[in-house]
Amino acid sequence: MDTKYIFITGGVASSLGKGIVSASLGLLLQSRGYSVTIQKFDPYINIDPGTLNPYEHGECYVTADGQETDLDLGHYERFTGIETTRDNSVTTGRIYLSVIERERRGDYLGKTIQVVPHITDEIKRRILLNAAKRPLDFVITEIGGTIGDIESQPFLEAIRQLRWELAGSAMNVHLTYVPYLAAAGELKTKPTQTSVKQLQGLGIQPDVLVLRTEHELGTDLRRKVAHFCNVAVEAVVQSQDLPSIYEVPINLNRQGLDTVCLQRLGVADAPLPRLEPWFRFLRLRQQAAETVDIALVGKYDLQDAYKSILESLAHAGTYNNRNVRTHFIHSEQLTRANVQERLGAMSGIVVCPGFGQRGIEGKIVACEYGRTHDVPTLGICLGMQMMVVEFARNVLGHADAHSREMDAHTSHNVIDLMEEQKSVTQMGGTMRLGAYDCQLAEGSRTWGIYGEVTLIRERHRHRYEFNSLYRGEFEQRGMHCVGINPASGLVEIVEVPAHRWYVGTQFHPEYSSTVLRPHPLFMSFVQSLTPNPPNP
Ligand code: GLN
Repeated sequence: MDTKYIFITGGVASSLGKGIVSASLGLLLQSRGYSVTIQKFDPYINIDPGTLNPYEHGECYVTADGQETDLDLGHYERFTGIETTRDNSVTTGRIYLSVIERERRGDYLGKTIQVVPHITDEIKRRILLNAAKRPLDFVITEIGGTIGDIESQPFLEAIRQLRWELAGSAMNVHLTYVPYLAAAGELKTKPTQTSVKQLQGLGIQPDVLVLRTEHELGTDLRRKVAHFCNVAVEAVVQSQDLPSIYEVPINLNRQGLDTVCLQRLGVADAPLPRLEPWFRFLRLRQQAAETVDIALVGKYDLQDAYKSILESLAHAGTYNNRNVRTHFIHSEQLTRANVQERLGAMSGIVVCPGFGQRGIEGKIVACEYGRTHDVPTLGICLGMQMMVVEFARNVLGHADAHSREMDAHTSHNVIDLMEEQKSVTQMGGTMRLGAYDCQLAEGSRTWGIYGEVTLIRERHRHRYEFNSLYRGEFEQRGMHCVGINPASGLVEIVEVPAHRWYVGTQFHPEYSSTVLRPHPLFMSFVQSLTPNPPNP
């Protein structure tokens, strides 16, 4: 079968859940036995989101091959279990950068470089790149932003051209919003009609419309939208609010979204979707009998900043028959004086990743509380580094111990820059990024958690490292370095064996937990928690 291309665009408003719809469609096609990849094209000028503050676009997700990407790639991986690569995340900045670099090399032989055709050609090349490198049945391309944004125009022009060039092998799914006017008691389709007209004005006729709504849409309304927008009634699908994002694929499948797409792309005799493991996950999720409260200690008070951690905890909760309730604890407001009150009722603590000084002492207080009160604690990246700092200060007795990131003059730099990072002058894309090997110490808790394998691979995103000069001192006093990078000798995991569950990882396990393959560290962490007493 030739590769089929599905473009997903959005209209009316942002944050309608295009990423979830893309991930859901990917899952549905994959569950029918097809090879699928999902990629995201973002219209902003940053080369990648690595330099963005999480308040701008939420968490920065990292692929195994070391690309810093939009958090939607996390949804793609969690839904399908298929790893994405640097080719799955493209921004306007990256497109322009490669065109301009080519221009400087003289590759354009004296031509004037223009948005059309040079930028649009580069967009088209990148859209086709994944399938040029390996055989794929379906490539789903999500276009970030909303129709009508100035920045989106070159992407839409590239799609228009590709739909023409690829003839029947390409189609467009457009996601819009149907608002409910409470005063009139009516659902309004006009914004959808306007958005589709805008798309048509750019030469793109949507094949399928997914209508995001908070209220059930009747058949009449769907017929009306179909009629005004030149699409078949069965190609108008609704996506209403559901208790969990993981129910979205099932809901879309029931309405025939995948079937309509297959028909539209001329794929006959498609196998039926096999969603049994997915249904099992949803069943387990609904059955969860116990509740655990987990403190998420971080400095970004918005959900999206810790997306992958929240999802990883939810996966682990489901498979442990536990309902995970996470409580965001602002590290800037956490002190020794209030820590008992803030963390006292928690079954477990996650000390979050992050950058910079703000809220750092609160993270150290959380580590100290978890360690001295035997509360299961997971430290991730900066969280692990603060576990190390806290231990150095309060157990090893180095009162000024710190990370060089926070205190350039500390005499006990237990976390420090690696040699190769010292000469780095550019911030973008220069951290230790992507998957690295890690050798586990036989007999350690973490080795047991990973099923007694000795070599694992996990994804990184950091500049600073455990300072190995202190390793002996830490081990002697009860914090063991149980995960080591075999090539560099860098410390990747610390644990305190005398504690109930106290593990810090320099890497980010949250990037690789998926619905059908929950991550062992999160599984073990959630399992170690004491559930709340049952309600009387
Ligand atoms: N700021 C720390 C470093 O760069 C930790 C980064 C992180 O938590 N992702 O090493």
